[in-house]
This record gives sequence, C-alpha cells and structure tokens, in this order.
Amino acid sequence: MLYEVVREETDSAKRPTYQVLNPANREVIAEVEIDSPDDVALAVKRARVAQKEWAALSFKERANRLYAARKLLLENKAQMIETVVLETGKPAPEVLMELLYVSDIIGYYGRRAEKFLADRKVSFHLLKNKGGTIVYNPYGVVGNISPWNFPLLLSFGDTVPALLAGNAVVIKPSEFSPLCAHLMMDFCHKAGVPRDVLQIVNGIAETAGALIDEADLISFTGSVPTGKKVMERAARTLKPVLLELGGKDPMIVLSDANLERAVHGAVYGALFNSGQVCISVERVYVEASIYDSFVQKVVEQVQKLRVGVETCSGDSVDMGPLMSERQLSIVDRQVEDARAKGAKILIGGRRREDLGGYFYEPTVITDVTDDMLLMQEETFGPVLPIIKVENAEEALRLSNASKYGLSSSVWTSNKVRGMALARQIEAGSTCINDVAINYVIPELPMGAIKQSGFGYRHGAEDGIRMFCRAQGILSDRVGMKRELYWFPYNRRSEKLVGKVLDFLFKR
Ligand code: NAD
Repeated sequence: MLYEVVREETDSAKRPTYQVLNPANREVIAEVEIDSPDDVALAVKRARVAQKEWAALSFKERANRLYAARKLLLENKAQMIETVVLETGKPAPEVLMELLYVSDIIGYYGRRAEKFLADRKVSFHLLKNKGGTIVYNPYGVVGNISPWNFPLLLSFGDTVPALLAGNAVVIKPSEFSPLCAHLMMDFCHKAGVPRDVLQIVNGIAETAGALIDEADLISFTGSVPTGKKVMERAARTLKPVLLELGGKDPMIVLSDANLERAVHGAVYGALFNSGQVCISVERVYVEASIYDSFVQKVVEQVQKLRVGVETCSGDSVDMGPLMSERQLSIVDRQVEDARAKGAKILIGGRRREDLGGYFYEPTVITDVTDDMLLMQEETFGPVLPIIKVENAEEALRLSNASKYGLSSSVWTSNKVRGMALARQIEAGSTCINDVAINYVIPELPMGAIKQSGFGYRHGAEDGIRMFCRAQGILSDRVGMKRELYWFPYNRRSEKLVGKVLDFLFKR
C-alpha cells in the first residue's frame, strides 16, 4: 500500500473499506475506510459548530489562511503532482493546470470576496419611504460531491469560494481519486483552517446520500444519471443543489477558419486528459470545402501523440490511461456500436492491453450518424468524431440537437459571424477560436443548460454569492403611526390607493 488515509478517530470501530487503484497499472495504492451515514452526520454536526467561529473571522483572515495553504501547495508541488498522477494516470503537465486553477481561484476570490459579498444598499422605485439592504449570509455547511477527472480542481474549485464566504465545507471526493483532496485538506489545516471547518468524508452513494441529507447546500459535479439521483435525494429535505454535469460539446469549424489552429484545437480539446473532460470536444462539424484537409491534418496530429505511463521524470507522455474498467467499457461499447453501424475508424479504435492499465488508443472517426451511441451519449474518452456539414446553419442545427448543453466552440476568421453563431449555440459557454480554456477564467461564468446541469461555476460575483443566502432586509424610514394599507380597511384609503394605481400605471 503506497498511501494511507488517516481518519480523524471518532471511535475505534473498524469500518468497511474501498481500494484506490492506479489506473496506469491497476495496482492498489490505498485502502480507504468508508464513512457511514452516522459518521457523516457527526462530521456535519461538528462543521456546523465550527462554522460560526469561522464566519466571525474577517474576510482578510480567512483569505490569509488560504494563501498560507496555497504556499504549502506550491512548496509541495511535486508531492501533489505525484499523488494526482498516481491516482489518475494523467500526464504531469495536466496536473499543473489543476494547481494553477486552485492557486488562482484562492487569489481571485481571496482578494475580492469582501467586495463581492458586501451589503448592497437598494433604493426602491416605489415606496420611497423605505430603504433596503441585501446581505449575503453563508449557507452554513456546504457539501461538495466531486468526480475523479480533475480531482484536485473539482474538490477545491468550489470549496475555496465556499470557505471564503464563511461556510464550513465537507467534501465527498470520488472514490477513484480521494488522495489529492486529503493532501490539500492537510495543507489547509496546517495553514490554520480549523479541522472541523474543512473535512472529508469517504465513500460512494450511501456516504454522498447522507451528506445531501445533512449539509445545507450541495455542490455536485458528476454525471447526468448521478446528478438526477442527487436532485431526487435533495428533494426529500428541499436542499438547494448546484449541479454541473456531463456534456457532448460541439465544435463548429467554418471554411474561413485558421485551419492549423482549428486542427490543433480539435486534437487537444478532444484528447487532453484522455478525453475525460466534461467540456471536451465530442463532436466536430466541419464545412464541406475544408473537410478533407481538416480530417487529414487531425489524423497526422493524432499519430504523433505519445500514449503511456507518466513517470514524472524525463519526457512527459501526452495521454495516459482512462480511469477505470467501467470507463474503458463505455468507450469500447460506443466505438464498436459506431463501427457496426458503418462508421470509419481512421486511427485508433482499440484498447491498449499491452500497456497494462486502462489504456485506449486516441481515436478519430468519420461517417458517423445520429443513431450511433457515440453521437447521443457522453463518451468521456479519447474519441474524436468528425462530421461533414454543408454550411454553418446545418452545423448549428446538429450542434443544438442534443440533450446536453455544457460548452461549445466556433472556429472562423470572421469575428461578427463567430459571435452571431456563438449566441445561437445552446450551451452554458462558448469559445470562439479556442477551446476549454474558458473554464479557468474566473471572470467568466461556466454554467450549463439542458441536462448538463444548472448553477453557476465561478463567474465573478455570482461564483461566490452562490454559496450564500441572499437576505433582503427592508427598513421603514418615516415611522408613520400606520400605513395606508394596514388595518382597519376603509373606503377612503381604498379610493386613495386606487388613485395612486391609476396615476402610476394608466397610460
Ligand atoms: P459520477 O456521477 O459517477 O460520480 C460523481 C460523484 O458522485 C462521486 O463522488 C461519486 O462517488 C458520487 N456518487 C455516486 N453515486 C451517488 C449517489 N447515488 N448520490 C450522490 N452521489 C453519488 O461521475 P464521475 O464518473 O466521477 O465523473 C464523470 C462525470 O462528471 C462526467 O459525466 C463528466 O462530464 C462530469 N463532470 C462535469 C463537470 C462540469 O463542470 N460540468 C466537470 C467534471 C466532470
């Protein structure tokens, strides 16, 4: 066993465990005790007590403690990178992106939380004798349920603004990749975030379900089917939920696009993190006049990708394994279904058993049709289907003919056309001549529509306000004995109110 997850002992009872595997070689790297619903209830109870003192600290003090955690993260970069590589198999440069995001979000909201959550005075357009204030109160205990594909970023990307807003946070990391969240939590504790203010509970559905019951707000990132279960469970206690789910992102390439850039963008956008990215390119629609050269260049680029085991020394690989046998089977099933229905596999299309772990070849497919699973369901794997379209309108129609609406991209040298097309794509976000990078820009919202979820991921003020209850406070300024519309009712005041109504709204 390489890693040990040390539990904060509440009692000495031995709990059932699950194993964490290294997906690059299928070896066990950790055995983690599963928290029962009682353990979760206790964790939330402790968090609720500790949250009061945490919320009473100044914004500056909370930010300072997270800056200190960031310092520890950066001083121990190598350890964090090795941990994420070990539990996900991804190339080290991709882990650096996770570190960059978490470090930046600490600075971004650390500097701005106080301003974004300051009381807002409101003057009313009617009832000028009253004044209003909107105050932002932390929810209390935020439960964060996260997936495995960016285990550090997706556990802490929401945790940081939630903590800065004055909440306690209980994280339920993915059972596939819980280790880096434990390491980051350790840095936070060493940096002065109280142990009960930031906790982790380990487990799968039962543990997550208990967290939904106990916490005050749930921020969930994961698949559409699990997102639906989360919402069902949350309905029992009318718990507010933020859901960021799966996608089937379209990329539209118009004939006037910078071809080289679009090709590189498609290959990176579809295949980084082995395609296990919620906002990875899963469908490419290319205008007929450039289709052949686009396809040829994509295949040339994909041929050059180095697939293998990341060792964190020497040259990095470009693509690691998939995360699990389950993920590998989904990709395999979709590609075989497409093959059987007449799609052309130009490159890839096979498992790489020879490499030992859950590896799959980077794959480019053409001649796909809408009845193929590959075109309907999220793939979440290293597969790039390319579709020839007559024009932008056809590309738009096909892009929008999906139950998902996460991200998307448009590639054209005509800015006005690009913007017009972007506005019509049904997605939470769109890049023009770029891909995926919008996720790491905290000024831009990264939300979702259709079955890809709802809520707001980062995005300036709203990205931290979503962890608070907005309370509207009204205050009377004049102090009349009684208002005109209070008891007792009489015809005189009724007439007066009627006249005011006419004066205000009769045109
Ligand atoms: P998943 O839905 O299987 O699991 C996500 C989390 O939910 C895990 O922690 C898991 O243990 C937990 N869980 C399992 N059963 C549960 C239940 N019944 N109730 C509550 N929680 C439960 O997803 P995954 O396979 O870990 O991650 C991949 C998915 O996440 C993909 O669909 C991907 O698109 C999506 N994702 C979305 C975003 C985004 O921002 N929109 C980002 C990353 C990943």
